[in-house]
Amino acid sequence: MEAQKYTIATLGSHSALQILHGAHLEGFNTLIVTTPQKASLYRRYGFINEILEIPSFSDFGKIENDLKKRNVILVPHGSFVAYLGASKNKNMTVSYFGNKNILDWEENRDKQHKWLTSAGILLPKVYKSIEEAQFPVIVKLYGAAGGEGYFLATSREDFEKKRQNIKTAFIIQQYIVGVPLYIHYFQSPLTGKLEILSMDRRYETNVDAVGRIPAKNQIDLGIDPSYVVVGNSPLVIRESLLEECFRMGEKVIKASQKIIDKRGLFGPFCLETIITPDQKIYTIEISGRIVAGTNLYTSGSPYADLLYDEPMSSGRRIAREIKTAIEQNKLDQILD
Ligand code: AMP
Ligand code: AMP
Repeated sequence: MEAQKYTIATLGSHSALQILHGAHLEGFNTLIVTTPQKASLYRRYGFINEILEIPSFSDFGKIENDLKKRNVILVPHGSFVAYLGASKNKNMTVSYFGNKNILDWEENRDKQHKWLTSAGILLPKVYKSIEEAQFPVIVKLYGAAGGEGYFLATSREDFEKKRQNIKTAFIIQQYIVGVPLYIHYFQSPLTGKLEILSMDRRYETNVDAVGRIPAKNQIDLGIDPSYVVVGNSPLVIRESLLEECFRMGEKVIKASQKIIDKRGLFGPFCLETIITPDQKIYTIEISGRIVAGTNLYTSGSPYADLLYDEPMSSGRRIAREIKTAIEQNKLDQILD
Protein backbone atom coordinates (compact mmCIF):
# COMPACT_ATOMS: atom_id res chain seq x y z
CA MET A 1 0.00 0.00 0.00
CA GLU A 2 1.22 3.49 -0.91
CA ALA A 3 0.60 4.94 2.57
CA GLN A 4 3.26 2.66 4.06
CA LYS A 5 5.96 4.53 2.15
CA TYR A 6 5.22 7.61 4.22
CA THR A 7 5.56 8.42 7.89
CA ILE A 8 3.16 10.81 9.57
CA ALA A 9 4.85 12.76 12.33
CA THR A 10 4.00 15.46 14.82
CA LEU A 11 5.30 17.12 17.98
CA GLY A 12 4.59 15.27 21.22
CA SER A 13 1.92 17.37 22.91
CA HIS A 14 -1.57 18.88 22.36
CA SER A 15 -3.38 16.39 20.05
CA ALA A 16 -0.46 14.19 19.02
CA LEU A 17 -2.06 10.97 20.27
CA GLN A 18 -5.21 11.50 18.25
CA ILE A 19 -3.29 12.52 15.11
CA LEU A 20 -0.99 9.49 15.20
CA HIS A 21 -3.77 7.11 16.17
CA GLY A 22 -5.67 8.27 13.09
CA ALA A 23 -2.56 7.95 10.91
CA HIS A 24 -2.03 4.40 12.15
CA LEU A 25 -5.63 3.46 11.34
CA GLU A 26 -5.09 4.73 7.80
CA GLY A 27 -2.01 2.53 7.37
CA PHE A 28 0.81 5.06 7.81
CA ASN A 29 4.00 4.66 9.82
CA THR A 30 3.92 7.04 12.75
CA LEU A 31 6.64 9.06 14.45
CA ILE A 32 6.64 11.48 17.35
CA VAL A 33 9.20 14.20 18.01
CA THR A 34 9.29 15.01 21.68
CA THR A 35 11.36 16.02 24.68
CA PRO A 36 12.83 13.42 27.08
CA GLN A 37 10.37 14.44 29.83
CA LYS A 38 7.39 13.73 27.61
CA ALA A 39 8.68 10.59 25.88
CA SER A 40 7.46 8.19 28.59
CA LEU A 41 3.85 9.13 27.85
CA TYR A 42 4.20 8.33 24.17
CA ARG A 43 5.99 5.03 24.82
CA ARG A 44 2.76 3.78 26.36
CA TYR A 45 0.99 3.67 23.02
CA GLY A 46 1.59 0.88 20.52
CA PHE A 47 0.39 2.82 17.49
CA ILE A 48 3.43 5.10 17.68
CA ASN A 49 6.16 3.38 15.67
CA GLU A 50 9.06 5.68 16.44
CA ILE A 51 10.01 8.29 19.03
CA LEU A 52 12.64 10.93 18.26
CA GLU A 53 13.82 12.87 21.29
CA ILE A 54 15.11 16.44 21.14
CA PRO A 55 16.28 18.46 24.18
CA SER A 56 13.58 21.09 23.65
CA PHE A 57 10.96 21.85 21.01
CA SER A 58 13.05 24.78 19.80
CA ASP A 59 15.68 22.25 18.60
CA PHE A 60 13.24 21.04 15.99
CA GLY A 61 15.25 22.50 13.10
CA LYS A 62 18.20 20.18 13.87
CA ILE A 63 16.30 17.00 13.04
CA GLU A 64 14.67 18.15 9.85
CA ASN A 65 17.10 16.20 7.67
CA ASP A 66 16.41 13.02 9.65
CA LEU A 67 12.72 13.52 9.07
CA LYS A 68 13.16 14.07 5.36
CA LYS A 69 15.14 10.83 5.04
CA ARG A 70 12.19 9.04 6.60
CA ASN A 71 9.74 10.50 4.07
CA VAL A 72 7.87 12.34 6.78
CA ILE A 73 4.69 14.37 6.42
CA LEU A 74 4.30 16.65 9.43
CA VAL A 75 0.86 17.35 10.82
CA PRO A 76 0.87 20.63 12.79
CA HIS A 77 -1.27 21.29 15.87
CA GLY A 78 -1.63 24.07 18.47
CA SER A 79 1.83 23.51 19.95
CA PHE A 80 3.56 24.22 16.65
CA VAL A 81 2.59 27.85 16.91
CA ALA A 82 2.71 28.04 20.72
CA TYR A 83 6.25 26.60 21.00
CA LEU A 84 7.90 27.33 17.64
CA GLY A 85 6.18 30.53 16.50
CA ALA A 86 4.96 31.31 13.01
CA SER A 87 8.39 32.05 11.52
CA LYS A 88 9.91 28.68 12.51
CA ASN A 89 6.85 26.97 11.09
CA LYS A 90 7.24 28.84 7.84
CA ASN A 91 10.93 28.00 7.56
CA MET A 92 10.42 24.26 7.95
CA THR A 93 11.46 22.33 4.90
CA VAL A 94 9.84 19.01 5.80
CA SER A 95 6.51 18.33 4.06
CA TYR A 96 3.86 20.08 6.11
CA PHE A 97 0.12 19.40 5.95
CA GLY A 98 -1.69 22.70 5.38
CA ASN A 99 -1.19 26.13 3.89
CA LYS A 100 1.58 28.04 5.68
CA ASN A 101 0.34 31.39 4.36
CA ILE A 102 -2.50 31.09 6.87
CA LEU A 103 -0.05 31.36 9.78
CA ASP A 104 0.52 35.12 9.51
CA TRP A 105 -3.17 35.81 9.21
CA GLU A 106 -3.92 33.77 12.25
CA GLU A 107 -1.09 34.88 14.50
CA ASN A 108 -1.57 38.60 13.94
CA ARG A 109 -4.78 39.68 15.67
CA ASP A 110 -5.32 42.64 13.33
CA LYS A 111 -4.97 40.45 10.26
CA GLN A 112 -7.22 37.81 11.75
CA HIS A 113 -9.83 40.47 12.42
CA LYS A 114 -9.58 41.69 8.82
CA TRP A 115 -10.03 38.13 7.53
CA LEU A 116 -13.06 37.38 9.71
CA THR A 117 -14.60 40.77 8.94
CA SER A 118 -14.26 40.17 5.21
CA ALA A 119 -15.97 36.80 5.71
CA GLY A 120 -19.06 38.70 6.88
CA ILE A 121 -19.64 36.66 10.03
CA LEU A 122 -20.78 38.10 13.33
CA LEU A 123 -17.86 39.28 15.52
CA PRO A 124 -17.61 40.98 18.90
CA LYS A 125 -16.72 44.65 18.53
CA VAL A 126 -13.04 45.46 18.86
CA TYR A 127 -12.44 48.86 20.46
CA LYS A 128 -9.49 50.93 19.29
CA SER A 129 -9.22 52.61 22.65
CA ILE A 130 -10.80 52.33 26.05
CA GLU A 131 -12.53 55.70 25.50
CA GLU A 132 -14.87 54.21 22.92
CA ALA A 133 -15.53 50.95 24.78
CA GLN A 134 -18.92 49.86 25.97
CA PHE A 135 -18.65 47.66 29.04
CA PRO A 136 -18.17 44.85 29.85
CA VAL A 137 -15.04 44.18 27.79
CA ILE A 138 -12.54 41.35 27.70
CA VAL A 139 -8.88 42.31 27.40
CA LYS A 140 -6.72 39.84 25.49
CA LEU A 141 -2.96 39.83 25.35
CA TYR A 142 -1.22 39.39 22.01
CA GLY A 143 0.19 35.89 21.61
CA ALA A 144 -1.44 34.63 24.81
CA ALA A 145 -1.79 30.87 24.95
CA GLY A 146 -4.93 29.22 26.22
CA GLY A 147 -6.60 32.37 27.52
CA GLU A 148 -3.83 33.08 30.02
CA GLY A 149 -3.75 36.64 31.36
CA TYR A 150 -7.10 37.66 29.84
CA PHE A 151 -9.29 39.80 32.05
CA LEU A 152 -12.81 41.12 32.20
CA ALA A 153 -13.36 44.83 32.84
CA THR A 154 -16.74 46.15 33.82
CA SER A 155 -15.89 49.86 33.84
CA ARG A 156 -13.19 52.31 32.87
CA GLU A 157 -11.99 52.38 36.45
CA ASP A 158 -11.84 48.59 36.63
CA PHE A 159 -9.88 48.53 33.35
CA GLU A 160 -7.31 51.09 34.52
CA LYS A 161 -6.72 49.16 37.72
CA LYS A 162 -6.23 45.81 36.00
CA ARG A 163 -4.14 47.00 33.08
CA GLN A 164 -1.36 48.08 35.42
CA ASN A 165 -0.04 44.52 35.52
CA ILE A 166 -0.02 44.18 31.73
CA LYS A 167 3.32 44.61 29.98
CA THR A 168 2.49 43.38 26.48
CA ALA A 169 0.20 44.64 23.72
CA PHE A 170 -3.48 43.77 24.06
CA ILE A 171 -6.82 44.17 22.39
CA ILE A 172 -10.08 45.31 23.96
CA GLN A 173 -13.08 43.31 22.83
CA GLN A 174 -16.80 43.46 23.57
CA TYR A 175 -17.54 40.78 26.18
CA ILE A 176 -20.26 38.43 24.92
CA VAL A 177 -22.36 36.76 27.57
CA GLY A 178 -23.34 33.33 26.27
CA VAL A 179 -22.32 29.73 25.79
CA PRO A 180 -18.88 29.12 24.31
CA LEU A 181 -19.03 26.61 21.48
CA TYR A 182 -16.02 25.50 19.46
CA ILE A 183 -16.84 24.10 16.03
CA HIS A 184 -14.37 21.63 14.51
CA TYR A 185 -14.38 21.76 10.73
CA PHE A 186 -12.52 19.98 7.97
CA GLN A 187 -12.21 21.53 4.52
CA SER A 188 -11.15 19.04 1.88
CA PRO A 189 -9.23 20.49 -1.05
CA LEU A 190 -9.72 17.17 -2.86
CA THR A 191 -13.53 17.17 -2.74
CA GLY A 192 -14.03 20.92 -2.23
CA LYS A 193 -16.44 20.06 0.60
CA LEU A 194 -16.65 21.44 4.12
CA GLU A 195 -17.37 18.96 6.91
CA ILE A 196 -18.26 19.58 10.54
CA LEU A 197 -16.60 16.73 12.43
CA SER A 198 -17.36 17.67 16.03
CA MET A 199 -17.88 20.43 18.60
CA ASP A 200 -16.75 21.05 22.12
CA ARG A 201 -16.99 23.55 24.88
CA ARG A 202 -13.94 24.47 26.82
CA TYR A 203 -13.71 24.19 30.53
CA GLU A 204 -11.89 27.23 31.82
CA THR A 205 -10.66 28.07 35.27
CA ASN A 206 -12.05 29.83 37.04
CA VAL A 207 -14.78 31.36 34.86
CA ASP A 208 -16.61 28.04 34.61
CA ALA A 209 -16.39 27.49 38.34
CA VAL A 210 -17.49 30.83 39.79
CA GLY A 211 -21.15 29.82 39.41
CA ARG A 212 -20.58 27.21 42.13
CA ILE A 213 -19.98 29.99 44.62
CA PRO A 214 -23.00 32.05 45.70
CA ALA A 215 -22.96 35.65 44.45
CA LYS A 216 -22.62 37.06 47.94
CA ASN A 217 -19.46 35.04 48.57
CA GLN A 218 -18.09 35.93 45.16
CA ILE A 219 -18.30 39.56 46.19
CA ASP A 220 -16.87 38.91 49.67
CA LEU A 221 -13.96 36.96 48.19
CA GLY A 222 -13.37 39.51 45.41
CA ILE A 223 -13.23 36.77 42.75
CA ASP A 224 -12.41 37.88 39.22
CA PRO A 225 -12.94 35.47 36.33
CA SER A 226 -9.91 34.04 34.51
CA TYR A 227 -9.99 32.07 31.24
CA VAL A 228 -7.22 29.49 31.44
CA VAL A 229 -8.28 26.35 29.60
CA VAL A 230 -7.95 23.09 31.53
CA GLY A 231 -10.03 20.73 29.45
CA ASN A 232 -12.91 20.29 27.06
CA SER A 233 -16.32 18.73 27.23
CA PRO A 234 -18.62 17.55 24.45
CA LEU A 235 -21.59 19.51 23.20
CA VAL A 236 -23.98 19.28 20.28
CA ILE A 237 -25.79 22.32 19.00
CA ARG A 238 -29.55 22.76 18.46
CA GLU A 239 -30.17 21.29 15.05
CA SER A 240 -31.78 24.54 13.89
CA LEU A 241 -28.42 26.29 14.31
CA LEU A 242 -26.33 23.68 12.52
CA GLU A 243 -26.80 25.05 8.99
CA GLU A 244 -25.63 28.45 10.23
CA CYS A 245 -22.44 26.77 11.50
CA PHE A 246 -21.78 25.31 8.04
CA ARG A 247 -22.40 28.69 6.39
CA MET A 248 -20.00 30.43 8.75
CA GLY A 249 -17.29 27.92 7.92
CA GLU A 250 -17.91 28.31 4.20
CA LYS A 251 -17.71 32.10 4.44
CA VAL A 252 -14.39 31.92 6.25
CA ILE A 253 -12.99 29.55 3.61
CA LYS A 254 -14.18 31.77 0.75
CA ALA A 255 -12.70 34.87 2.38
CA SER A 256 -9.35 33.11 2.88
CA GLN A 257 -9.24 32.23 -0.83
CA LYS A 258 -9.79 35.88 -1.67
CA ILE A 259 -7.50 37.66 0.76
CA ILE A 260 -4.81 35.10 1.65
CA ASP A 261 -4.19 33.06 -1.48
CA LYS A 262 -5.99 30.87 -4.01
CA ARG A 263 -5.62 27.69 -1.98
CA GLY A 264 -6.90 29.42 1.14
CA LEU A 265 -7.59 27.64 4.39
CA PHE A 266 -7.98 23.87 4.22
CA GLY A 267 -7.72 20.84 6.48
CA PRO A 268 -8.94 21.02 10.07
CA PHE A 269 -9.83 24.39 11.57
CA CYS A 270 -11.97 25.71 14.36
CA LEU A 271 -14.29 28.65 14.83
CA GLU A 272 -14.43 29.58 18.47
CA THR A 273 -17.84 31.06 19.10
CA ILE A 274 -20.11 32.33 21.83
CA ILE A 275 -23.87 31.94 21.42
CA THR A 276 -26.18 34.48 23.04
CA PRO A 277 -29.74 34.05 24.33
CA ASP A 278 -31.10 35.50 21.06
CA GLN A 279 -29.23 32.68 19.25
CA LYS A 280 -26.64 34.87 17.62
CA ILE A 281 -23.34 33.10 17.02
CA TYR A 282 -20.38 35.41 17.63
CA THR A 283 -16.97 34.22 16.45
CA ILE A 284 -14.25 35.21 18.88
CA GLU A 285 -11.32 33.53 17.19
CA ILE A 286 -10.22 31.13 14.46
CA SER A 287 -7.63 28.37 14.72
CA GLY A 288 -6.25 27.32 11.37
CA ARG A 289 -5.42 23.77 12.39
CA ILE A 290 -6.56 20.94 14.61
CA VAL A 291 -7.67 22.09 18.08
CA ALA A 292 -7.31 20.09 21.28
CA GLY A 293 -11.07 19.89 21.80
CA THR A 294 -11.13 17.26 19.03
CA ASN A 295 -9.36 14.91 21.49
CA LEU A 296 -12.81 14.10 22.84
CA TYR A 297 -13.60 12.25 19.64
CA THR A 298 -10.83 9.72 18.99
CA SER A 299 -13.51 7.23 18.02
CA GLY A 300 -15.79 9.60 16.12
CA SER A 301 -18.50 12.02 17.15
CA PRO A 302 -22.25 12.53 16.62
CA TYR A 303 -21.42 14.72 13.60
CA ALA A 304 -18.66 12.56 12.13
CA ASP A 305 -21.01 9.57 12.40
CA LEU A 306 -23.43 11.33 10.04
CA LEU A 307 -20.72 11.57 7.39
CA TYR A 308 -18.75 8.35 7.85
CA ASP A 309 -19.73 4.75 8.49
CA GLU A 310 -16.61 4.25 10.59
CA PRO A 311 -15.09 6.05 13.57
CA MET A 312 -13.63 9.29 12.16
CA SER A 313 -11.61 11.61 14.37
CA SER A 314 -10.11 14.85 13.05
CA GLY A 315 -6.71 13.14 13.26
CA ARG A 316 -7.89 10.23 11.16
CA ARG A 317 -9.61 12.60 8.72
CA ILE A 318 -6.28 14.35 8.10
CA ALA A 319 -4.59 10.99 7.43
CA ARG A 320 -7.46 9.99 5.13
CA GLU A 321 -6.99 13.19 3.10
CA ILE A 322 -3.25 12.55 2.84
CA LYS A 323 -3.88 8.93 1.79
CA THR A 324 -6.39 9.97 -0.85
CA ALA A 325 -4.01 12.63 -2.16
CA ILE A 326 -1.24 10.01 -2.45
CA GLU A 327 -3.58 7.67 -4.35
CA GLN A 328 -4.68 10.47 -6.70
CA ASN A 329 -1.17 11.84 -7.09
CA LYS A 330 -2.27 15.20 -5.66
CA LEU A 331 0.01 15.59 -2.65
CA ASP A 332 1.10 19.03 -3.85
CA GLN A 333 -2.46 20.29 -3.27
CA ILE A 334 -2.33 19.57 0.45
CA LEU A 335 1.31 19.98 1.48
CA ASP A 336 3.52 23.01 1.97
P1 AMP B 1 0.27 21.94 25.83
O1 AMP B 1 0.48 20.76 24.96
O2 AMP B 1 -0.69 21.66 26.99
O3 AMP B 1 1.53 22.57 26.30
O4 AMP B 1 -0.50 23.03 24.95
C1 AMP B 1 -0.01 23.55 23.74
C2 AMP B 1 -0.87 24.71 23.29
O5 AMP B 1 -2.21 24.28 23.03
C3 AMP B 1 -1.03 25.81 24.33
O6 AMP B 1 -1.15 27.02 23.62
C4 AMP B 1 -2.32 25.47 25.05
O7 AMP B 1 -2.91 26.61 25.62
C5 AMP B 1 -3.16 24.90 23.92
N1 AMP B 1 -4.04 23.83 24.44
C6 AMP B 1 -3.64 22.67 25.00
N2 AMP B 1 -4.67 21.93 25.37
C7 AMP B 1 -5.77 22.63 25.04
C8 AMP B 1 -7.16 22.38 25.17
N3 AMP B 1 -7.61 21.24 25.71
N4 AMP B 1 -8.02 23.29 24.67
C9 AMP B 1 -7.56 24.40 24.11
N5 AMP B 1 -6.26 24.71 23.97
C10 AMP B 1 -5.36 23.85 24.42
P1 AMP C 1 -9.64 32.83 23.03
O1 AMP C 1 -8.18 32.86 23.42
O2 AMP C 1 -10.03 33.95 22.15
O3 AMP C 1 -10.03 31.48 22.50
O4 AMP C 1 -10.47 33.02 24.38
C1 AMP C 1 -10.32 32.22 25.52
C2 AMP C 1 -11.58 32.28 26.34
O5 AMP C 1 -11.87 33.63 26.76
C3 AMP C 1 -12.83 31.85 25.60
O6 AMP C 1 -13.01 30.46 25.58
C4 AMP C 1 -13.94 32.57 26.37
O7 AMP C 1 -14.29 31.92 27.55
C5 AMP C 1 -13.28 33.87 26.73
N1 AMP C 1 -13.57 34.89 25.73
C6 AMP C 1 -12.79 35.27 24.69
N2 AMP C 1 -13.35 36.28 23.99
C7 AMP C 1 -14.52 36.55 24.57
C8 AMP C 1 -15.57 37.50 24.33
N3 AMP C 1 -15.49 38.38 23.32
N4 AMP C 1 -16.63 37.51 25.15
C9 AMP C 1 -16.71 36.63 26.18
N5 AMP C 1 -15.75 35.73 26.49
C10 AMP C 1 -14.68 35.67 25.70
